[in-house]
Amino acid sequence: MGFVKGLKCRECGKDFPKEPLHVCSFCFGPLEVDYEYDEIKKKISRETIEARQPTMWRYKELLPLDNEPTVGIQVGFTPLVKADNLAKKLGVRELYVKNDSVNFPTFSFKDRVVSAALSKAKEFGFKTVACATTGNLGNSVAAQAVQGNLESYILMPANLEQGKVLGTSIYGTNVIGINGNYDGVNRLCSEIADKYGWAFANINIRPFYAEGSKTYGFEIVEQLGWKAPKNVVVPMAGGSLIIKIGKAVKELAKLGLIDDSDTKLFGAQASGSSPISTAVKNGSEFIKPVKPNTIAHSIAIGNPADGYYSIKAIHESGGWAEDVSDDELVEGIKLLASTEGIFTETAGGVTVAVTKKLLEQERIPRDESIVICITGNGLKTQEAVLGRVGAPSIIKATIEDFDAFMEKKECFAA
Ligand SMILES: *Cc1c(COP(=O)(O)O)cnc(C)c1O
Ligand SMILES: [Zn+2]
Repeated sequence: MGFVKGLKCRECGKDFPKEPLHVCSFCFGPLEVDYEYDEIKKKISRETIEARQPTMWRYKELLPLDNEPTVGIQVGFTPLVKADNLAKKLGVRELYVKNDSVNFPTFSFKDRVVSAALSKAKEFGFKTVACATTGNLGNSVAAQAVQGNLESYILMPANLEQGKVLGTSIYGTNVIGINGNYDGVNRLCSEIADKYGWAFANINIRPFYAEGSKTYGFEIVEQLGWKAPKNVVVPMAGGSLIIKIGKAVKELAKLGLIDDSDTKLFGAQASGSSPISTAVKNGSEFIKPVKPNTIAHSIAIGNPADGYYSIKAIHESGGWAEDVSDDELVEGIKLLASTEGIFTETAGGVTVAVTKKLLEQERIPRDESIVICITGNGLKTQEAVLGRVGAPSIIKATIEDFDAFMEKKECFAA
């Protein structure tokens, strides 16, 4: 395998070699992995892909490695759930949930980007990997570093949910909590990357890391029977995932694996950290950084690295963006759980609630296919719903107590 030509500046188009670089030295634009699409086209078909193992690496020709993956080879191929109960509730015809809350090994879509990043870091010869994280990325880097025999350092805002902190520390990594928000953590990590020469998944090897997100889009299309969805609703933090879902659909069309690629991209944020959706709604091309204030910590980035390009991708697709309050996102979590039996984290609550809002605004047509992107697991952000759901009824272990419970229940129901 190995169809990577090199890196290319997204802004000025200048070519760079396959190295741990992420910024254009001429115009400071972001670098992106560039492939030999003509060669890939000769190599893969729907049939070759379908015959492979059900993991994200079944699309390996479109991923940024020169050799076979060495870290996270079992990641991906999560369920695409036909969400008929939620569809009925929302009044839409064809609705799906792409459920990365059960991704292996750490229950979020970040397992995809980390598998790509750490496999690439090993190809580059790095011994130490690291990241700036809002939670899920740290979980995944820590877990997959263990698997890849790499040393790891995880830097995160000190106020993250217990499930996210514990879900990192358990792997025996170096966890560092930073006072303040993610944007400060990210700035610090850029300095550390330069000084210590580690592979920061989402900083100096970001172009390779970000490519892993495409597999979320490839899988949606394959699982729909090699058909691109008409509408997809995506939670946005740095804005990378939404761009890469758009890129995934376009690549499959370019390779002749699908006919249509007119998927509209809809971005979802929490109102307390909504620089991207605010720009889209204001018709602005540029991000105005904000200071995050929301319980949706996993997507609370005030100065998103891919903000500008995510706005562009949304506009070019004919989509839109919205944001919701913390109360609305909690209702979104409960709605998905009570209709589809899927317990998502705060980011998923945002995505469900934004979908509802965009339907009410008639931005998303009710008679077209819609995919809701569920990217993380609710067991990691229990604080968000504590006290917002019913508590168990406590009884003695006797049939009399149980009978009394049933009677009381019926009397409440009546
Ligand atoms: C990181 C993350 C996202 C979005 O990531 P981008 O930075 O926009 O690519 C969405 N959902 C969850 C749960 C995340 O952890
Ligand atoms: Zn450039």
